[in-house]
Amino acid sequence: MQITDIQFEKVSFSFEQPMKVAFAEIKDIETLLVKIDTDEGLSGFGEAAPLPFVTGDNLDSAWAVGRELRKALLGCDPAAIGGIHRRMDSLYNGCGAIKCAIDMACYDIAAKAAGMPLYRYLGGESGHVHSDVTIGIDTPDAMAAKALEWIEKGFTILKIKLGEDIETDLARMQAVRKAAGPSIALRIDANQGWTVKDSLRVIPELEKLNVGLIEQPVAAWNYEGLREIRQAVRLPIAADESCHTPVDAARLASMQAVDFINIKLMKCGGIYNAIKINAVAESFGVSCMIGCMGESALANVAGMHVAAALDNIKEVDLDAVYILSDKKAHGGFEHKGGRAVLTDTPGIGVTID
Ligand SMILES: [Mg+2]
Repeated sequence: MQITDIQFEKVSFSFEQPMKVAFAEIKDIETLLVKIDTDEGLSGFGEAAPLPFVTGDNLDSAWAVGRELRKALLGCDPAAIGGIHRRMDSLYNGCGAIKCAIDMACYDIAAKAAGMPLYRYLGGESGHVHSDVTIGIDTPDAMAAKALEWIEKGFTILKIKLGEDIETDLARMQAVRKAAGPSIALRIDANQGWTVKDSLRVIPELEKLNVGLIEQPVAAWNYEGLREIRQAVRLPIAADESCHTPVDAARLASMQAVDFINIKLMKCGGIYNAIKINAVAESFGVSCMIGCMGESALANVAGMHVAAALDNIKEVDLDAVYILSDKKAHGGFEHKGGRAVLTDTPGIGVTID
């Protein structure tokens, strides 16, 4: 099988409500949909959702790099995914989002060719995924009200964005825990917003609120800080912005700096590298979670397939399908009993209008 064309299309959508995190407020989203055609009549879809302050690129640069990658990949076998990545990496370092889009479309084609839903093509057994849903930074009362809204919709795991001054952050979590009651699982993402000192002061207080884990308390570069925090507190510590590549994962794990690594397809260049990061982490006894960017159902459902396929991915933060008003990509899963159940359509299973 050979790639005969790669086409790009920009799509825009928005959060139902602006999402405030420690370093930004995000409302409007633009992503790049990629369609790969082959000489055997099979086509695959992928998506690039760059977030400049995390992935280091934007939509225009992703598009420009995508055009260059296209020239190098025409005629290649999309199912020979190692060769696809070798060619992409020989031309551009980094550029995780556009590499992810091409990788995702290649896996979509390969799974379609095998007649399997992607999670089974990747070796998975069951297509059930239990995701959290994210609540952005707001006043304690507003965040508590939002928590109740999601709980009423059947969600049992909430991810709470913090990372501002620690007194207000603690008040936010106290309000959310009080509203949610004791049985809802809560996890925190500080998005690099705290210092090591902040973290050492506030995390013991957060432990009293029965929190599951703390994601990226300090700056992405501060591996030593992550280790210092992890050694001082009981709560599991997760790296997100600190980990883009399998090598980052190996460094964090060998330093014993984290309990979890949050894999995002847009950071690491897609499914091929997500599998590597997961294997590196697993070999060090570190668990993974999988997260998302502001992205359509296409990339979000692709992430669900990866989560369903890899046993060491213990926690799932794939909520874009629940909090974004995307009208372009449909299907791929059904939401049943608070969980996503992937359809058995070959490939990713998402339809693009
Ligand atoms: Mg995060």
